[in-house]
Amino acid sequence: MKVPLLDLTQQYEKIAAEVQAVIGRVCASQQFILGREVLKLEQRMASYTRCAHGIGVSSGTDALLLGLMALGIGPGDAVITSPFTFFATAGTIARLGARPIFCDIDRATFNLAPAKVEALIAQDCEVRGEGGGRQVIHRKSGCRVKAIMPVHLYGQLCEMDALMEIASRLGLHVIEDAAQAIGAEDRQGRMAGSIGHIGCFSYFPTKNLGAFGDAGLCTTNDAALAERMRVLRVHGMEPKYHHSLIGGNFRLDEIQAAVLNVKLPFLDAWMAERDAHARQYTQRLQSMKGADKVVTPAQPQGGRHVWNQYVIRVQRRDELRQSLAAAAIGTEIYYPIPLHLQECFAYLDYRGGEMPESERASGEVLALPVFPELTAAQIDYVAGTIERFYTAAPPQP
Ligand SMILES: *Cc1c(COP(=O)(O)O)cnc(C)c1O
Repeated sequence: MKVPLLDLTQQYEKIAAEVQAVIGRVCASQQFILGREVLKLEQRMASYTRCAHGIGVSSGTDALLLGLMALGIGPGDAVITSPFTFFATAGTIARLGARPIFCDIDRATFNLAPAKVEALIAQDCEVRGEGGGRQVIHRKSGCRVKAIMPVHLYGQLCEMDALMEIASRLGLHVIEDAAQAIGAEDRQGRMAGSIGHIGCFSYFPTKNLGAFGDAGLCTTNDAALAERMRVLRVHGMEPKYHHSLIGGNFRLDEIQAAVLNVKLPFLDAWMAERDAHARQYTQRLQSMKGADKVVTPAQPQGGRHVWNQYVIRVQRRDELRQSLAAAAIGTEIYYPIPLHLQECFAYLDYRGGEMPESERASGEVLALPVFPELTAAQIDYVAGTIERFYTAAPPQP
């Protein structure tokens, strides 16, 4: 048996005729950029996430960049975020000349821990002024903290209430990196991307809703922010050839939007399949021999985890990964090096040991295949291979 980490061909086979028809219609129209399909996607994503506005953009990375730009974040500013995430989260902050301030994660959820954000601000920042004039200054760099960027890692929402409370008390904005979490809900039924001031989504092909190339989207309930993002998306141009802001080219193309419009109605069914797979894995891995060597992911109480990744923490991770590869089972490590220890962020002057939970996670996590079309037999085979690895005779010293 073979179990790839992700196989998109099966999904494509089921929708191929429909996808080819819409791509054909875009070709016939010769309207390639920000046309009817983009508008339709923006409206449907707004209604899906229960947000007032959707702004289609060229990638998830550009969604983050555009959100930060719309909030006016730049040199002299700082944004608090997680070091245990994909590079784009902090990369976009740094590209704008702002400073990423890393805050360690929660052990159980891998997400930014509100209590640690609170402690970081109390320890490393000085809060000046009152009410609307309040400023949070990062002592070491002198930068002004403007925003918090939580990441809903693997498809599970952060504790948004506590983060929003901190942000509103200190006058900070919140930009949700919801790239892995389209469709995720919290206990109150609020959707990922709809709770902070701006939500950012990616339609990279490996995400739960994937385009046939790069694409992304921003959501917001703030009409003024939505308008700013629309203008910044096209070089800050409004009206034509008049530029009051310096924006960029963050436009979404029609072919990607058309593909996404075909796929969006299937998203909830695909999510239900991922959820069933996650439950099967957890049940199987918790009841196997050697179950004490594996920590299965925390299942949220209420709310909805969308399982963009099913990630276990294990002992002897790299050996297990090799043994799964030998059994034709694909796995991946998201993420092997936390961002505060990346070479390009050496100027931020973090040291190993400063973010213990993130560092520990990067040495223990392993993502197993969880795409919708997997079969129960394949999941059983993956779990059985893990069980055999931990019950085999221990390696000779
Ligand atoms: C995928 C991803 C991004 C970037 O999205 P792209 O569409 O690849 O640019 C940003 N943040 C996180 C957490 C992601 O997983």
